[in-house]
Amino acid sequence: MTIPVDAADRRAVKPVICYPNETLPVPDLSGYKAARAGAEKISEVRVEPRDASCFHVDAGQFFRISSIEGPQVGDLNLWHAHDLGERFYSGKTRALHGTHITMGERMWSSFPYLRPMATIVEDTLDWYGIDEFGGSVHDVIGTRCDPYTGYLLQGTHYHNCCHSNLLRALSAETGLSLDEAEPLVHDVLNVFMCTGFTRDTGQYFMKASPVRPGDYLEFFAEIDLLGALSACPGGDCSTEHSSDVASCHPLLVEVFVPSEGALGDWQPPAINGYNRNHGVG
Ligand SMILES: [Zn+2]
Repeated sequence: MTIPVDAADRRAVKPVICYPNETLPVPDLSGYKAARAGAEKISEVRVEPRDASCFHVDAGQFFRISSIEGPQVGDLNLWHAHDLGERFYSGKTRALHGTHITMGERMWSSFPYLRPMATIVEDTLDWYGIDEFGGSVHDVIGTRCDPYTGYLLQGTHYHNCCHSNLLRALSAETGLSLDEAEPLVHDVLNVFMCTGFTRDTGQYFMKASPVRPGDYLEFFAEIDLLGALSACPGGDCSTEHSSDVASCHPLLVEVFVPSEGALGDWQPPAINGYNRNHGVG
């Protein structure tokens, strides 16, 4: 290995934020919270351990994901309820907001839509911040646990990874076959999961989630949503996933509708305004 003479100078170059986000439209959090204050619960779905469930939330409604019986991590997929081709884009959300998301930050949709799907309005784990290992909660860096990686690394056939749980739930909800539905399952928001990258090797790590029963993450639905939430077989992700070893608990999803007129003149965001010429013609 040849180390260039100016290696130290090159390493000393200051980083530049890839996507300065000062120009991102700012959500009206106080307006959302005022609307939430008078909102009424209209439905709930219990997600069983090592399984997933779907739920619907209309634009302008709220949904809350709660830990109810013990520390548990959830893997969340979102689609536009009327066009499953528009779905959550974990990578771009990470590029815009960072590795973990919290209050006031948003789940953005895939190209060519690239608009807010949901905005986080409450996060009872907001106090956690970033720990001494560089870990934080609610990440958009993991993908979702899946049986293919399990087979690749261990030669196993495990059927209750989040990928398979989400796939079964989406297939049951839509009537699509497993083959049709599988490409629609996408990288998740890891709700309550505590993760980071090791500084020495840059590897993705997880640790026991700080979530406790009663903790929740709540969202405002910016567009009509079909959601699917998996209660990860990793449980609180303190030991391992992709197996039945970890202690697992259910999660609860509740949907709330604001009272008539509480959102004022709020409108769902339009799809992205890029003209889609792509340099042709
Ligand atoms: Zn999982």
